Amino acid sequence: MTTHSTTEPISNRLRIVLVGTQHPGNIGSAARAMKTMGLGRLVLVAPEKAPNHESEALAAGADDVLAAAATHATLAEAVADCHLVLGCTARSRRIALDELLPREAAARALDGARAGGEVALVFGRERTGLDNEELQLCHAAVHIPANPAYSSLNLAMAVQVLAYELRLALLAVGGGDPAPAGDGDPPASHAELEGFFGQLGDALDAIDFHKGRAPESALRKFRRLFLKADLDSREVRLLRGVLADVERMAMLAARAGGER
Ligand code: SAH
Repeated sequence: MTTHSTTEPISNRLRIVLVGTQHPGNIGSAARAMKTMGLGRLVLVAPEKAPNHESEALAAGADDVLAAAATHATLAEAVADCHLVLGCTARSRRIALDELLPREAAARALDGARAGGEVALVFGRERTGLDNEELQLCHAAVHIPANPAYSSLNLAMAVQVLAYELRLALLAVGGGDPAPAGDGDPPASHAELEGFFGQLGDALDAIDFHKGRAPESALRKFRRLFLKADLDSREVRLLRGVLADVERMAMLAARAGGER
């Protein structure tokens, strides 16, 4: 297993697998449910009908998730590279599987993905759910504790509940979304900050800020102040621009003084 890299969102290792879906509309609604919660990897296993105009209509703005969906012939194929497979069931079955609540399932899924594993949440057919052979491929079952007398949610709504729990779990570890393009700069690196502190020292010398006192104490205070500000790269560049001007003005002033 690889360790989590900071550039790739954790949610890339979480896939929603729909097995044998009968209504193409549900595939679209599931895509929408996923996208609202920041999930983008939809996998279809032998849908009765391929996604069509009905799926697109119900996907609304999540047609990108729908378009990117991979299709496999069997569940075994769809989860072949997964380290954790969780099967969502509307009823408890007589099968030797741990049964998790959605919240527990989300926590387990996230632990797996953060450790670098590929994780699948699997949903069954509208009429008959997942068959026993498919459940055998799962490491645990997930059951939404619905009304026991009427426990079967619409497929896409079950996806929504699990996607929401995954989102809460992701937000709790700061892994909600990749930053929208162009928004937010990377935090300043150690080297960038040291470059800035070095230039700050030079600029303070140039304007004779210390007036004969030892510079260390003031530099320590500035260091603490700027470290507290949690600067990003762009902010460091901005501050260095100011310091460059300070140094330039100090040089001009010194030159003018010398000419007098
Ligand atoms: N009649 C089917 C219901 C299938 S509903 C059955 O009894 O199994 C379609 C899919 O939605 C299910 O296979 C399951 O993956 C999901 N689902 C529906 N209700 C659920 C619930 N209460 N808990 C977990 N998953 C549920």
